[in-house]
Amino acid sequence: MGNKLLLIILDGVPWRNWRRLFGNLEGWVDSGDARVWKLRSVLPSTSASCYASIHTGVAPAEHGCTGNHDVHRLKHKDVFAQVRAAGGVTGAVAHSFWSEFFNRAPFDLVRDIEYDEPASDTINHGRFHTMTGYGLVNQMTPSDADLFATLTRLCEVHDLTYGMLHTCTLDSMGHRFFHDCQEMDHACFMMDEMLAPFLTRWREAGYEVIVTADHGQDARGHHGGRDPLQQEAALYYFGPAKGPAKDDVIDQLQLAPTILSRLGAPIADTMKAPIFLT
Ligand SMILES: [Zn+2]
Repeated sequence: MGNKLLLIILDGVPWRNWRRLFGNLEGWVDSGDARVWKLRSVLPSTSASCYASIHTGVAPAEHGCTGNHDVHRLKHKDVFAQVRAAGGVTGAVAHSFWSEFFNRAPFDLVRDIEYDEPASDTINHGRFHTMTGYGLVNQMTPSDADLFATLTRLCEVHDLTYGMLHTCTLDSMGHRFFHDCQEMDHACFMMDEMLAPFLTRWREAGYEVIVTADHGQDARGHHGGRDPLQQEAALYYFGPAKGPAKDDVIDQLQLAPTILSRLGAPIADTMKAPIFLT
Protein backbone atom coordinates (compact mmCIF):
# COMPACT_ATOMS: atom_id res chain seq x y z
CA MET A 1 0.00 0.00 0.00
CA GLY A 2 1.31 3.44 -0.91
CA ASN A 3 -0.63 6.14 0.90
CA LYS A 4 -1.32 6.52 4.60
CA LEU A 5 -4.35 8.32 5.98
CA LEU A 6 -5.80 9.45 9.31
CA LEU A 7 -9.51 10.10 9.89
CA ILE A 8 -10.20 12.48 12.79
CA ILE A 9 -13.83 12.62 13.94
CA LEU A 10 -14.82 15.37 16.35
CA ASP A 11 -18.23 14.25 17.57
CA GLY A 12 -21.21 16.60 17.25
CA VAL A 13 -19.72 19.74 15.69
CA PRO A 14 -22.19 21.64 13.46
CA TRP A 15 -21.14 23.32 10.21
CA ARG A 16 -21.45 26.84 11.68
CA ASN A 17 -19.01 26.08 14.54
CA TRP A 18 -16.33 24.66 12.27
CA ARG A 19 -16.16 27.65 9.95
CA ARG A 20 -16.58 30.24 12.75
CA LEU A 21 -14.33 28.89 15.49
CA PHE A 22 -11.56 26.59 14.14
CA GLY A 23 -8.92 29.19 13.29
CA ASN A 24 -6.00 26.87 12.53
CA LEU A 25 -8.07 24.70 10.19
CA GLU A 26 -9.49 27.76 8.45
CA GLY A 27 -6.02 29.29 8.19
CA TRP A 28 -4.84 26.18 6.36
CA VAL A 29 -7.79 26.54 3.99
CA ASP A 30 -6.65 30.12 3.30
CA SER A 31 -3.04 29.02 2.73
CA GLY A 32 -4.11 26.24 0.34
CA ASP A 33 -2.85 23.42 2.61
CA ALA A 34 -6.40 22.17 3.24
CA ARG A 35 -9.71 22.15 1.46
CA VAL A 36 -13.11 22.24 3.16
CA TRP A 37 -16.57 21.10 2.12
CA LYS A 38 -19.92 20.73 3.80
CA LEU A 39 -20.73 17.13 4.79
CA ARG A 40 -24.26 15.81 5.37
CA SER A 41 -24.71 12.94 7.81
CA VAL A 42 -26.94 9.94 7.35
CA LEU A 43 -30.31 9.64 9.09
CA PRO A 44 -30.77 9.18 11.95
CA SER A 45 -28.11 11.81 12.74
CA THR A 46 -27.37 9.88 15.93
CA SER A 47 -23.80 9.08 16.97
CA ALA A 48 -23.71 5.28 16.83
CA SER A 49 -25.69 5.12 13.59
CA CYS A 50 -23.32 7.65 12.03
CA TYR A 51 -20.16 5.83 13.20
CA ALA A 52 -21.47 2.64 11.60
CA SER A 53 -22.21 4.45 8.32
CA ILE A 54 -18.91 6.33 8.22
CA HIS A 55 -17.00 3.05 8.27
CA THR A 56 -19.31 0.74 6.30
CA GLY A 57 -20.47 3.22 3.68
CA VAL A 58 -24.07 2.05 3.99
CA ALA A 59 -27.10 3.82 5.53
CA PRO A 60 -28.52 2.88 8.95
CA ALA A 61 -31.56 1.46 7.13
CA GLU A 62 -29.13 -1.14 5.72
CA HIS A 63 -26.54 -1.75 8.49
CA GLY A 64 -29.30 -1.80 11.09
CA CYS A 65 -27.88 0.33 13.93
CA THR A 66 -30.85 2.46 14.96
CA GLY A 67 -29.09 4.44 17.71
CA ASN A 68 -26.77 4.49 20.72
CA HIS A 69 -28.67 1.69 22.46
CA ASP A 70 -28.30 -0.65 19.49
CA VAL A 71 -24.54 -1.29 19.34
CA HIS A 72 -23.39 -4.72 18.19
CA ARG A 73 -20.82 -6.28 15.85
CA LEU A 74 -21.82 -5.18 12.34
CA LYS A 75 -22.04 -7.66 9.47
CA HIS A 76 -20.99 -5.30 6.69
CA LYS A 77 -17.42 -4.94 5.52
CA ASP A 78 -15.83 -1.74 6.75
CA VAL A 79 -12.75 0.43 6.28
CA PHE A 80 -10.64 -1.45 8.83
CA ALA A 81 -11.41 -4.84 7.23
CA GLN A 82 -10.69 -3.61 3.71
CA VAL A 83 -7.37 -2.02 4.72
CA ARG A 84 -6.40 -5.29 6.42
CA ALA A 85 -7.38 -7.25 3.31
CA ALA A 86 -4.92 -5.12 1.35
CA GLY A 87 -2.14 -5.80 3.87
CA GLY A 88 -2.31 -2.48 5.74
CA VAL A 89 -1.97 -1.89 9.49
CA THR A 90 -4.92 -0.26 11.29
CA GLY A 91 -5.33 1.64 14.54
CA ALA A 92 -8.17 3.30 16.45
CA VAL A 93 -8.30 5.72 19.36
CA ALA A 94 -11.99 6.06 20.05
CA HIS A 95 -15.13 5.46 22.05
CA SER A 96 -15.67 1.78 22.75
CA PHE A 97 -18.64 1.64 20.33
CA TRP A 98 -16.03 1.56 17.53
CA SER A 99 -14.47 -1.60 18.95
CA GLU A 100 -17.89 -3.23 19.31
CA PHE A 101 -19.00 -2.36 15.79
CA PHE A 102 -15.84 -3.41 14.01
CA ASN A 103 -14.00 -5.94 16.18
CA ARG A 104 -16.00 -7.66 18.92
CA ALA A 105 -18.99 -7.09 21.20
CA PRO A 106 -19.86 -6.77 24.01
CA PHE A 107 -16.99 -4.56 25.12
CA ASP A 108 -14.95 -6.14 27.92
CA LEU A 109 -13.55 -3.24 29.91
CA VAL A 110 -10.24 -4.92 30.72
CA ARG A 111 -9.71 -7.06 27.63
CA ASP A 112 -10.72 -4.39 25.13
CA ILE A 113 -9.59 -1.12 26.71
CA GLU A 114 -6.37 -1.46 24.73
CA TYR A 115 -5.11 -4.18 22.43
CA ASP A 116 -2.36 -4.92 19.96
CA GLU A 117 -3.43 -7.75 17.68
CA PRO A 118 -1.23 -7.96 14.58
CA ALA A 119 -3.28 -10.82 13.09
CA SER A 120 -6.67 -9.10 13.49
CA ASP A 121 -8.93 -8.92 10.42
CA THR A 122 -10.04 -5.42 11.43
CA ILE A 123 -8.40 -3.31 14.17
CA ASN A 124 -4.75 -4.09 14.90
CA HIS A 125 -4.02 -1.46 17.53
CA GLY A 126 -6.95 -0.22 19.60
CA ARG A 127 -7.03 2.33 22.43
CA PHE A 128 -10.57 2.83 23.68
CA HIS A 129 -12.57 4.63 26.37
CA THR A 130 -16.17 3.99 27.42
CA MET A 131 -17.28 7.29 29.03
CA THR A 132 -19.00 5.15 31.67
CA GLY A 133 -21.02 7.45 33.94
CA TYR A 134 -21.44 10.12 31.24
CA GLY A 135 -24.09 12.76 31.95
CA LEU A 136 -24.77 16.49 31.78
CA VAL A 137 -22.74 17.32 34.90
CA ASN A 138 -19.80 14.99 34.18
CA GLN A 139 -18.62 14.47 30.60
CA MET A 140 -16.27 11.58 31.41
CA THR A 141 -14.17 12.42 28.31
CA PRO A 142 -10.38 12.11 28.15
CA SER A 143 -8.33 15.22 27.29
CA ASP A 144 -8.15 15.59 23.54
CA ALA A 145 -4.42 16.26 23.69
CA ASP A 146 -4.02 12.81 25.27
CA LEU A 147 -6.09 11.20 22.50
CA PHE A 148 -4.15 12.98 19.73
CA ALA A 149 -0.87 11.94 21.37
CA THR A 150 -2.04 8.33 21.64
CA LEU A 151 -2.84 8.19 17.93
CA THR A 152 0.52 9.76 17.14
CA ARG A 153 2.21 7.15 19.30
CA LEU A 154 0.44 4.34 17.40
CA CYS A 155 1.49 5.88 14.08
CA GLU A 156 5.12 6.22 15.11
CA VAL A 157 5.51 2.85 16.88
CA HIS A 158 3.35 0.66 14.61
CA ASP A 159 3.57 2.56 11.31
CA LEU A 160 -0.20 2.62 10.82
CA THR A 161 -1.48 2.64 7.26
CA TYR A 162 -4.85 3.85 8.48
CA GLY A 163 -5.68 5.42 11.82
CA MET A 164 -9.04 6.62 13.11
CA LEU A 165 -9.53 8.93 16.08
CA HIS A 166 -12.88 9.87 17.56
CA THR A 167 -13.55 12.18 20.49
CA CYS A 168 -16.85 13.12 22.15
CA THR A 169 -15.68 16.28 23.95
CA LEU A 170 -17.50 18.82 21.80
CA ASP A 171 -20.69 16.75 21.49
CA SER A 172 -20.83 16.57 25.29
CA MET A 173 -20.17 20.32 25.57
CA GLY A 174 -22.96 21.04 23.10
CA HIS A 175 -25.49 18.89 24.94
CA ARG A 176 -24.53 20.61 28.17
CA PHE A 177 -24.05 24.28 27.23
CA PHE A 178 -25.60 24.60 23.73
CA HIS A 179 -23.83 26.78 21.16
CA ASP A 180 -24.30 30.52 21.70
CA CYS A 181 -22.10 30.76 24.78
CA GLN A 182 -18.56 31.38 26.04
CA GLU A 183 -18.15 27.74 27.03
CA MET A 184 -18.60 26.48 23.47
CA ASP A 185 -16.50 29.25 21.91
CA HIS A 186 -13.68 28.26 24.23
CA ALA A 187 -14.14 24.50 23.78
CA CYS A 188 -13.88 24.76 19.98
CA PHE A 189 -10.94 27.15 20.28
CA MET A 190 -9.13 24.70 22.59
CA MET A 191 -9.84 21.74 20.31
CA ASP A 192 -8.44 23.61 17.31
CA GLU A 193 -5.34 24.66 19.24
CA MET A 194 -4.74 21.15 20.61
CA LEU A 195 -5.23 19.50 17.21
CA ALA A 196 -3.04 21.86 15.16
CA PRO A 197 0.48 20.78 16.20
CA PHE A 198 -0.45 17.11 15.81
CA LEU A 199 -1.83 17.79 12.36
CA THR A 200 1.50 19.31 11.36
CA ARG A 201 3.33 16.28 12.73
CA TRP A 202 1.05 13.81 10.93
CA ARG A 203 1.50 15.66 7.63
CA GLU A 204 5.29 15.67 8.10
CA ALA A 205 5.10 11.88 8.67
CA GLY A 206 3.44 11.48 5.26
CA TYR A 207 -0.22 11.07 6.27
CA GLU A 208 -3.17 12.47 4.40
CA VAL A 209 -5.65 13.71 7.00
CA ILE A 210 -9.42 14.13 7.01
CA VAL A 211 -11.02 16.05 9.89
CA THR A 212 -14.80 15.95 10.20
CA ALA A 213 -17.75 15.23 12.53
CA ASP A 214 -20.28 12.42 12.74
CA HIS A 215 -23.18 14.95 12.76
CA GLY A 216 -23.99 18.52 13.83
CA GLN A 217 -26.12 19.86 16.69
CA ASP A 218 -28.96 22.37 16.75
CA ALA A 219 -29.40 25.40 19.03
CA ARG A 220 -30.59 23.18 21.89
CA GLY A 221 -27.70 20.77 21.42
CA HIS A 222 -29.96 18.20 19.81
CA HIS A 223 -29.32 15.90 16.83
CA GLY A 224 -30.89 12.77 15.37
CA GLY A 225 -33.21 14.23 12.75
CA ARG A 226 -33.16 16.07 9.45
CA ASP A 227 -32.64 19.68 10.60
CA PRO A 228 -29.60 21.04 8.69
CA LEU A 229 -28.00 22.13 11.98
CA GLN A 230 -28.24 18.51 13.14
CA GLN A 231 -27.08 16.87 9.91
CA GLU A 232 -24.45 19.23 8.51
CA ALA A 233 -20.78 19.39 9.49
CA ALA A 234 -17.54 20.35 7.74
CA LEU A 235 -14.96 18.07 6.19
CA TYR A 236 -11.34 19.31 5.95
CA TYR A 237 -8.91 17.40 3.74
CA PHE A 238 -5.11 17.65 3.84
CA GLY A 239 -3.45 15.89 0.93
CA PRO A 240 -2.68 16.01 -2.77
CA ALA A 241 -5.92 14.59 -4.22
CA LYS A 242 -8.37 16.65 -6.23
CA GLY A 243 -11.83 17.15 -4.67
CA PRO A 244 -15.24 18.35 -5.80
CA ALA A 245 -16.28 21.97 -6.38
CA LYS A 246 -16.23 24.07 -3.24
CA ASP A 247 -20.01 24.29 -2.90
CA ASP A 248 -20.62 20.55 -3.35
CA VAL A 249 -22.03 18.75 -0.31
CA ILE A 250 -20.37 15.44 0.58
CA ASP A 251 -22.64 12.55 1.55
CA GLN A 252 -21.34 10.77 4.64
CA LEU A 253 -21.61 7.45 2.77
CA GLN A 254 -18.86 8.66 0.41
CA LEU A 255 -16.27 8.60 3.21
CA ALA A 256 -15.60 4.85 3.39
CA PRO A 257 -15.01 4.23 -0.34
CA THR A 258 -13.03 7.47 -0.65
CA ILE A 259 -10.68 6.56 2.21
CA LEU A 260 -10.13 3.09 0.70
CA SER A 261 -9.47 4.56 -2.70
CA ARG A 262 -6.85 6.94 -1.27
CA LEU A 263 -5.15 3.95 0.41
CA GLY A 264 -5.30 1.72 -2.65
CA ALA A 265 -7.42 -0.83 -0.75
CA PRO A 266 -10.38 -2.67 -2.32
CA ILE A 267 -13.77 -0.97 -2.03
CA ALA A 268 -16.40 -3.42 -0.75
CA ASP A 269 -19.32 -4.22 -3.10
CA THR A 270 -21.72 -2.80 -0.51
CA MET A 271 -20.02 0.66 -0.61
CA LYS A 272 -21.93 2.17 -3.53
CA ALA A 273 -21.48 5.93 -2.98
CA PRO A 274 -19.07 7.69 -5.37
CA ILE A 275 -15.59 8.65 -4.16
CA PHE A 276 -15.00 12.41 -3.77
CA LEU A 277 -11.17 12.55 -3.88
CA THR A 278 -9.30 11.54 -7.04
ZN1 LIG B 1 -22.11 11.92 17.85
